[in-house]
This record gives sequence, structure tokens and C-alpha cells, in this order.
Amino acid sequence: MTSAEYVGNEGVKMRFEFTEEQTEIKRAAREFAEKEFTSEKGREYDEKYEFPWPFYRKAAQLGFTGTSFSEKYGGQGLGCIEACIVCEEFNRADSTIAALLAGIGFGGLIEKFGTEEQKEKYIPRICKGEIACAMALTEPGHGSDAGLVGLDTKAVKDGDNWKINGTKTFITCGDIAEFTIVCCQTDPNASPPHRGVSQIIVEKGTPGLDISALKPKMGFRGAPQAEQSFNDVKVPVSNLLGQENRGFHQIMAYFDFSRAAIAAGAVGIAQGAFERALKYSTEREQFFQPVHRFQFTQWKIAEMAMNIEAARLLTYKTAWLIDYKPDKQKLITKFASMAKAYAAKTSIATTDAALQIFAGYGYVDSDIERFYRDARILDIIEGTGEIQRYIVARETYREMNLPLP
Ligand SMILES: Cc1cc2nc3c(=O)[nH]c(=O)nc-3n(C[C@H](O)[C@H](O)[C@H](O)COP(=O)(O)OP(=O)(O)OC[C@H]3O[C@@H](n4cnc5c(N)ncnc54)[C@H](O)[C@@H]3O)c2cc1C
Repeated sequence: MTSAEYVGNEGVKMRFEFTEEQTEIKRAAREFAEKEFTSEKGREYDEKYEFPWPFYRKAAQLGFTGTSFSEKYGGQGLGCIEACIVCEEFNRADSTIAALLAGIGFGGLIEKFGTEEQKEKYIPRICKGEIACAMALTEPGHGSDAGLVGLDTKAVKDGDNWKINGTKTFITCGDIAEFTIVCCQTDPNASPPHRGVSQIIVEKGTPGLDISALKPKMGFRGAPQAEQSFNDVKVPVSNLLGQENRGFHQIMAYFDFSRAAIAAGAVGIAQGAFERALKYSTEREQFFQPVHRFQFTQWKIAEMAMNIEAARLLTYKTAWLIDYKPDKQKLITKFASMAKAYAAKTSIATTDAALQIFAGYGYVDSDIERFYRDARILDIIEGTGEIQRYIVARETYREMNLPLP
């Protein structure tokens, strides 16, 4: 990256330059991941559908999982840029083992909206790699519209408790998490319905909570998904996270951060597949020459290189806005959606092109087929590509003071 100043169309002045500390984090994250996340281990965890606990703990000991948590609770007290650097480097090394980052993801919601007691109870254990956490918004009947049209999972006050009934599905780490932040309709009469959604912390083992793992699945097998059923589940009223009926707002505010991190992971997967294909194209010979001599291969390499760089710039610009311009809320939301949508597509297209370069040797028994399968989820989780585009369009009309679509 250069240190040239850049003023975007929206008038925000920025510098595309990593600090010395960020450069060092990138180097350390790369060194750690290259050493630990071997192909053999990646394949093993993919085949076993297993969360990579040993790597999660090791990464935590070195401070890689607590990057953006505050030092008070055992984190590194750094920002979104540093979190993105780690996501990119881990995924570049191995897309399956890097799924360990899913274990910490929603701990950020506790740090942002939790009470002092909730923070002290959970965040130090997340930073130490002792526990994983989950967030449950999606339901069998509500995916893209979850929260917006009213949730089927309801929570009502029952004395000093919340009583929860309903079903959540596709919940990442839902069967291994110490606790799940469950999005519930707490005001069924709210208009619009998302103003009646609250987030409630439910710990594993709470009576009435039934969990079943979801298998088989295409990829992302290092991060398990589960269905969670709540049958008169009772938790203390103090398990409310943040404000009552502000849960949907809280998730959306957090998605700006997590979408940037997902974009960084997508850039990493793309970069990992790209580097493998680049090397292979110089080694594999057909028609008495390495396949990188064919113009078709060069075009693929050029497309991959251009798209990865564009996705990376969008991702780090988003992270930079989050760290340095937190007051530019609408702009951040637009950039987070642009970065996630673009990086996800880049990751899918790049792993596809890489597999084509490897051809039969990519399809059979290779890292590339795993990267290809792992990339596909990125255009679905935390809002599909279609939903991201809807957000980008809405915010663009808003910026231009035109009627919203
Ligand atoms: C591996 C995995 C991990 C996940 N992890 C979690 C998790 O941890 N927590 C959680 O709460 N959820 C999680 N999810 C759920 C995920 O967020 C949803 O799958 C996603 O939001 C889409 O919902 P859906 O699958 O029901 O698709 P639907 O909403 O049914 O969409 C079907 C299609 O219609 C399109 N569509 C829908 N509405 C519109 C619209 N208004 N305009 C244009 N197109 C539209 C969609 O883009 C999609 O192409 C996970 C899912 C998977 C597969």
C-alpha cells in the first residue's frame, strides 16, 4: 500500500497505509497460520466436521482472537483493521481451520452492548480461547427478512425470568457455544416489527433448550451449524443484552464490523487459492510447456489479481472508516455491504478460476476444492449478496438526497 492521501467521492480523506504495528500483526498472523494450519489438518477438520479447538486455543494464547476486544477484558484493544488483517491471513493459509474465528464473532456484541457483569463473565474466557459463542437470528420461516417482519421466537416476562419459545436454525457454533445471543420478539405489537426485537443470552444446558447439529453441508465444515429449539426456556431478566426492543438495531450496528471481517476472510480465501494456482500454473506442463504460457491462463490470473486487489481495498477502507470515522454511520453501513458483497463474489470467482487451472487435480483430493466449497457460504451468511446490494442502493440514493427506493 502507498501512503498517498485519497479523498473518496463521499469526501472522506484517508490514507491507504498500514502502521508499523499493523504490518507486524500481518507478519505474525501469516507466520503463525502458515506453520499451524497445514493442508493435512485442514482436510482432517473438513472431513470430521469438527471445530478446530486446538488451533482456537493456540491462536487465543497469541492474542489473535482477542484483537478487537478491550485490554480490560483480556483483549488486545485494537481495531477493525487489525481484526481484518488476522481474518485475511488465517483464511489465506487455510479456509477450513480459519473457521475458528467464527467462535469469537459475536462476543463483540457483548462488549458493545453488555453490562459490566456480562462483559466480565464472558469476554475474558473468549479471549483465552476457553469458550465459543453464537448468535441466533435466523429461523426456519425467516432468513433475509428475519427481524424485519417479526420473529416467530417469542420471549415474555415471567416474574424474574424471560420465557422463550421458538426455533432458530443455521446457528454457527450453536452446538459448541457456551452461550447464544438469541433474538426474540419481545413486543409482538411493535410497528414496524423489528422495533420489538430483543437479544437475550441463553447458556448451554439451560432446561428446555434442544440442540441438533446440521449436517451434511457443502463447506465451512470447521464451523458447525445447529438448530436450537426453545421450549419454555427460562433465563433471568438480567440476561437481556443491551436495551429491550433494540435488539435488531444492535445486530445491524454490529454487522457493519462483522461484514468487514467476513470480507477480509473472503479476500484471504481468494488470495490463498490464487497463490496456489499461480504456482501450479508454472509447474504443470501440457503441450510441452507450462500452462501459464497459455493466454487463457494469464487472463484468469489477471482477473483474479485485479478482483482480489479491489476487494482488499474495499475491505480495508471499510475497516478504516469503522476505526477512524465512527460517526459516519450510514457510510460505514454502505461500505460494509459493498465490501462483503464484492469480496464474497471475488472469493467464489477466484476459487472457481483456481480450480479450473488445477483442473482434474483441483477437483480430486486438493486444497482448492475445499477453498472452493468454503468460499461459497460467504455470499449467504450475515445477509445474502442480494440483501447487501439492496443496502448499497438504498444508502447511495440517501447520499444523493434522492427518494429512497
Ligand atoms: C453455514 C451457515 C451459517 C449461518 N450462520 C448463522 C448464524 O450464526 N446466525 C444466524 O442467525 N443465521 C445464520 N445463518 C443464516 C443466514 O444468515 C441465512 O441463511 C441468510 O440470511 C439467508 O436466509 P435464507 O437462507 O433463509 O434465504 P432466504 O431469505 O429464503 O432467501 C432466498 C433467496 O431469495 C433472495 N431474497 C430474499 N429476500 C430478497 C429481497 N428482498 N430482494 C432480493 N432477493 C431476496 C435471497 O438473496 C436468496 O437468494 C447461517 C447460514 C448458513 C448456511
